[in-house]
Amino acid sequence: MHPSNIPILGELTPGTTQRHLIKLPGAALANDEPRPVISVAGAKPGPVLFVNAGVHGGEYPAVEAVIRLGKTLDPKKISGTLILMPVLNLPAFRTRTPFVCPIDNVNPNRVFPGDPRGSYSEQMTHACINEFVVHADAYVDLHGGDIPEALVPFVICRSEAGLADSKARDVAARSKAIAMAFGLPYVLTVSKPVQPSKGHRAGAGGLSSYAAAADKGTPAILAEAGGGGQMQEEAVSLLVNGVVNVMRHLGMIEDAKFESHIGNTETNSKPKPKKTVRSAVATTVLTKFEWLYTKSTGVWYPKVAEGEAVREGEQIGTVGDLFGDTLEEIVSPVNGVVLFLTISPSVLENGLLMGIGAKEVISGKR
Ligand SMILES: [Zn+2]
Repeated sequence: MHPSNIPILGELTPGTTQRHLIKLPGAALANDEPRPVISVAGAKPGPVLFVNAGVHGGEYPAVEAVIRLGKTLDPKKISGTLILMPVLNLPAFRTRTPFVCPIDNVNPNRVFPGDPRGSYSEQMTHACINEFVVHADAYVDLHGGDIPEALVPFVICRSEAGLADSKARDVAARSKAIAMAFGLPYVLTVSKPVQPSKGHRAGAGGLSSYAAAADKGTPAILAEAGGGGQMQEEAVSLLVNGVVNVMRHLGMIEDAKFESHIGNTETNSKPKPKKTVRSAVATTVLTKFEWLYTKSTGVWYPKVAEGEAVREGEQIGTVGDLFGDTLEEIVSPVNGVVLFLTISPSVLENGLLMGIGAKEVISGKR
């Protein structure tokens, strides 16, 4: 037997999957509904991987991917321990609230690593980091487009660029290796400080999950697939297979055929020879993330779709008023690809419209 790597879960028995209902510490969280957590304790020793979804409550394929991993992975075939939390921001999930936690109206993914004396979201992210992430050898935070958003699947992690400390560079390099192993079409490496959040409010000085985890020495990524408040099966499969790819990368799974056991468990149709996610995707690495906002409250008419290439100076949408007059033309500031897009037509002043991923243009001078 090995003592639990995650103290809040208590003793874990090797070779078993256990269900836990966890009360996170923090005075603001005292009356919370307990959060489901699943531990898949491998028969053999190995790394501890922590995976959660539901930092944003309306990103359903991510939540389903975590549920499905807990139901399908066989602990007898695993080395190490997989810890799964389907929904961190449970108040948002229960109320279908996009971007923020409805209790304090804060975007949790801007207040990592949290504050034990802060608001609800700050206490929640503090508990996530201190009860789970710091005890793990790697951390995967699953997301997607939120209820009014669409996106092309991508992974974000900390960039090595600009990090002076060799340990921080090592954690960033290991994070990027995990991001590449995940197997989505785009990997975005971003430098500190991170870009503004998707939410309407940005916590002062706050970090996203993966950046806060990296600061604590845990290699980490944030992976995104699906959106629009729907449960796209393709997105669920991408995220499930991505986590399995990461487990293989970390040496937690040896069986090359492992992923054939999981994925679409809902259909009984004859299995078709299907492309494995790993070999089918050529990953493009992007190093710049441009977020576009509207100055005007109004009606948003995008002229591009998620995944589409855009050119610098190209008009990529307009915002109009309720008489049908154009208030604003939205122009791309870079050559890049639309990684996420607001698909709901109603937008508020300073509202987020889209995020464009680009390759950093290196100028002649260093
Ligand atoms: Zn999200």
